[in-house]
Amino acid sequence: MKRILFSLVFSAIMLLYVALPAQAHTATPGRNSVNADHQILYLNETRYDTALAKAVSRWNSLNAGSGVHIARTTDPDKATLKIYDVNNCSDWWAGKVSIYRPGMDTVQLNVCKMKNFPRGDRMRIVTHELGHTLNFDHNDLPATSIMYPSPASTSLTHPGPHDEQDYNDYWIVGPAKTGGY
Ligand SMILES: [Zn+2]
Repeated sequence: MKRILFSLVFSAIMLLYVALPAQAHTATPGRNSVNADHQILYLNETRYDTALAKAVSRWNSLNAGSGVHIARTTDPDKATLKIYDVNNCSDWWAGKVSIYRPGMDTVQLNVCKMKNFPRGDRMRIVTHELGHTLNFDHNDLPATSIMYPSPASTSLTHPGPHDEQDYNDYWIVGPAKTGGY
């Protein structure tokens, strides 16, 4: 009897163990700025374009041929995302993403906060906000993910190992995704 009980408990623990490493931090499928061709095409209207170009190239380096390609466009009819600045000192946030259906998604960068940040923090924030447009949600892993809710308190300036895993799971090896846009 004891042996049976033990074996039940053991298999329950094993199931839990198997389930845990797979935990991904993705939002509802389709909550992204990706079009049907697996592209995010953005209008660049931010002064933080150096940080943005680096963040884009870091996310694109995870593409591996079948992920998402993020690219700048000047054509508002093709754009799925607009990245622009606001200057709002009464708001607490430095960056904010809005996913609209229908309509072009936005990343807003708050100059009132961004202007006081060192370059590394600006990189973190832009990379983090792009992560949301790729369907990634917040997590509690500041050491391995740029998607920690307060990117300025992580040491990363680029997608970390956990983000690479989530990206791989969601965009590359997972069931084929159509973009949300
Ligand atoms: Zn966030």
